[in-house]
Amino acid sequence: MADIVILGAGIGGLPMAYDMKAAKRKEDRITVISNNPYFQFTPSNPWAGVGWRSRDDVTIDIAPVLKKQKIDFICDACVKVVPDENKLVLESGREVSYDFLIIATGPELAFDKIEGLGPDGYTQSVCAIDHAVEANQAWEDFCKDPGPIVVGAVQGASCYGPAYEYAMIMDTELKRRKIRDKVPMTFVTAEPYVGHLGLGGVGDTKGILESEMRDRHIKWITDAQVDKVEDGLMHVSQIGDDGAVVKSHELPFKYSMMLPSFRGIPALQGLDGLVNPMGFVIVDEHQRNPKYQNVFGVGVCIAIAPLEKCNVPVGVPKTGYMIESMVAATAENIGQMLRGQEPTHEGTWNAFCLADFGNKGVAFLAQPQNPPRNLNWAAEGKWVHLAKIAFEKYFMRKIRKGQSEPYFEKAIMNMTKVTRLK
Ligand SMILES: Cc1cc2nc3c(=O)[nH]c(=O)nc-3n(C[C@H](O)[C@H](O)[C@H](O)COP(=O)(O)OP(=O)(O)OC[C@H]3O[C@@H](n4cnc5c(N)ncnc54)[C@H](O)[C@@H]3O)c2cc1C
Repeated sequence: MADIVILGAGIGGLPMAYDMKAAKRKEDRITVISNNPYFQFTPSNPWAGVGWRSRDDVTIDIAPVLKKQKIDFICDACVKVVPDENKLVLESGREVSYDFLIIATGPELAFDKIEGLGPDGYTQSVCAIDHAVEANQAWEDFCKDPGPIVVGAVQGASCYGPAYEYAMIMDTELKRRKIRDKVPMTFVTAEPYVGHLGLGGVGDTKGILESEMRDRHIKWITDAQVDKVEDGLMHVSQIGDDGAVVKSHELPFKYSMMLPSFRGIPALQGLDGLVNPMGFVIVDEHQRNPKYQNVFGVGVCIAIAPLEKCNVPVGVPKTGYMIESMVAATAENIGQMLRGQEPTHEGTWNAFCLADFGNKGVAFLAQPQNPPRNLNWAAEGKWVHLAKIAFEKYFMRKIRKGQSEPYFEKAIMNMTKVTRLK
């Protein structure tokens, strides 16, 4: 009997538990550990920020779902991973041993890197449902007394899609409330150009997103480094090719949402050979750590090198479709190792995203993730908005039912049929 422990119960962790259940031997035991008692569908958090979703809409209690699947669940935070002893130390003091560990802990949000950034400072966040609920309270106050908005993603961020989504969603909601004319909006991003997305652009994301921002009267500042945030004022330096400041901006705001940079969670920091200097888990093509070969990593917690050097650091996004491919490969590989074989499966790490604007949206598909690509496609339309809503419902239903299925792969198959994409 082998003990397989999955640390984290998000978009990576729960599907990992279901896939692992299908790939393990009868006698093996799976335990999921999460610091939160609930699963959150993170892609819906921007909708919660403007009040289009409640906390209940986008969260699911983990314990009953896993109980039905006969998968053990421990609701406790891991404070230390001890890979030399094959064990985890939890906040309660409990220690959990493993034969195989799959780390799926997502990111720690590095608001502290910039003075005044984040919910403890002066900007909102939609990265977690708690933040999005808070952002929504501030949003309602803002709508009673509107003014300028600054929205975007700071230096070192790796998640740009939700920043565009939130800008466009706010624009849509302000129009519905008929107060858009009272709100100058500026999009601030570390990307070298609009639509880069940490991926060097996908299809014509540059053209599509620039055009959309022009159409919605959203100004933008690229190559942006946020120096500090004060109450109602963001200090931004625009960085040139030589690394010097080209222009300084002082941007007043009454509401701001900025995506932070990410790093690995504290329990992983400083573990030589397991993580990189930012605390992201080092994995090989089989999602396996090269030093600790019974430890795997899936999702945002893994280390992926930036695509290219930009004037301001720009990270690579780790999106749901990529994560799904990491999860599938990991389950197959551990299944092989349990049966005395060498792991052979590799995740595709292809990137697919539906970025919603509230009334339409942009879909993009990058195969492989980095250019030059075999498939490099982006398209815009109302169907993206509808597809994202349908996908949310589909994903939540499958999580509740504990079904091991390639959620994203299925959605893409349907989408490619609809769009006749080859
Ligand atoms: C706002 C936003 C919108 C996004 N929208 C999309 C989208 O539309 N499409 C897309 O493809 N991708 C999207 N992404 C990217 C990505 O799909 C998500 O970030 C996704 O949630 C990552 O999954 P994960 O499992 O790696 O991490 P998470 O979903 O964050 O899960 C991490 C898990 O680890 C647990 N955990 C953390 N620390 C500990 C600890 N110390 N001990 C125990 N458990 C711990 C957490 O409670 C959680 O259960 C979005 C990201 C963000 C931030």
